[in-house]
Order: sequence, then structure tokens, then C-alpha cells
Amino acid sequence: MREEAAARVKGIMDGFFSLFYPSPCACCGRYIKDFIGMYICASCYNAISPIPAVSCVKCGKPLDTAALEECGECGVYKKLFSVVRQAGLYEKGLKELVWLLKFSGKKEAARVLAKLIMNSKAAALFEGAGLIVPVPMAEQARRERGYNHTELLASILSGQTSVKMSRCLVKVRETAPQNSLERRERIMNLKRAFKAIKPVNGFVVVVVDDVYTTGATMNEAARALLEAGAKEVRGAAAARAV
Ligand SMILES: [Zn+2]
Ligand SMILES: [Zn+2]
Repeated sequence: MREEAAARVKGIMDGFFSLFYPSPCACCGRYIKDFIGMYICASCYNAISPIPAVSCVKCGKPLDTAALEECGECGVYKKLFSVVRQAGLYEKGLKELVWLLKFSGKKEAARVLAKLIMNSKAAALFEGAGLIVPVPMAEQARRERGYNHTELLASILSGQTSVKMSRCLVKVRETAPQNSLERRERIMNLKRAFKAIKPVNGFVVVVVDDVYTTGATMNEAARALLEAGAKEVRGAAAARAV
């Protein structure tokens, strides 16, 4: 009974606050006026961790020492893309924004993520690029979500950079969700999962993804684009898993 009463009071309070503030910050839950990018408050937005200055030149992985240029992963397993940059680390407000876009149908979160990418080192990737290509989803998954979230992100970035977007990559087979797999399995899971359906001869291509984890997705996207004639493949992701 007491729980019910407490829930009612909370409901009334939430209703009261929502008269003034449309919804609480998706990250800290507080009802705050100074929303940046619609879903998270200014303090959570400003607390998003950028990629540290000491990080792998190839994939952005934070490193303990500036003595090394590349992380162990990039040193041992040669990547097919030339460079990947991300807006920040996949935690706190940035993680929240990616989740809103991917799992809560909040398409507007793509706008905030695009802004974060353009305010980071990733912005330089679009210089001299001829094509922006989103990481494709399997058709059934895309139908279930109603949209491909990386395509939303890529199209906003295309508008801001004037680099043309192309949906030239397709997923040629179903794959298991990457987050359920170990490193080795992730690589095998995605091997040759993508195909370019148009030639991209001579283009410098920027592949857009949501989260960069092991690089398996980006590497396979690069493989397909290089086979289709791309001159160079770069990667831009909203976040880097830590
Ligand atoms: Zn907040
Ligand atoms: Zn690396």
C-alpha cells in the first residue's frame, strides 16, 4: 500500500516537473533546463570523455605510454582501413545517446552524435574524402528497428561536410550480435559479411559506425570497399568501447 502511495506521489511530481521540463536527462535523470541536444543535460554532455591525446594512431585506443604509436591489437593484426577516429569513449552520456538512437527509437540522437563527431578529431577524416558509407544492417534487423541508425548518422554528416553519402555496402548474410561474442568469434562472425554493390573506384571512403570495439566491423567494411576499388578507407564512429 505504502509503495503504491509512493508511486502515486512520484507520478504527480513527475507530471508537475514535466509541465516545465519535458523529460529528465537520459543520463543523470535530473530535470534540468539546460538541455543540449534534447536528451542529455549540459553537465552530462560536457562530461563526455574525449579520446585521450595518448592513444593508438590507427584506432584511437587509449594507451598507457606515448612511447608506442599503435596499440597491441593494431600492431599484431594489420587493419585494412587507414585510420579510425571516434567522438569519445563509450561510457556515460555518449553511451546513453547511442542507446537512445539504437534501442529507443530516438532518431534525433543522431544529430547530437554527429555534432560530437564534428567537434572531435574525427572531423578531419572528411577532408579529401569522396564518399561517406554507413555500416549496413541485415534487412530483417533494419525492418524491425524501422531505420538503420548508422545511415541516419551518415546522412547528417554528409549534409555537414558536403561529402556524398552512398548506401553501397550491403550485409550479405545474417550475423550474431557482436556484443555476445569474444574477440576471435567477432572476427569470424563478420568475415566477408559485407559486399559493395557499386564500384567505388578511386574514392577515399569514410565508413560511419556507431561504436568501435575490436575493429572487426570496420575491417570487413574496408575489405569490401577496397575490393570494389576504393583508394583508401577511413572510419568514423560515434564512440570507442573501453
Ligand atoms: Zn544529466
Ligand atoms: Zn589500435
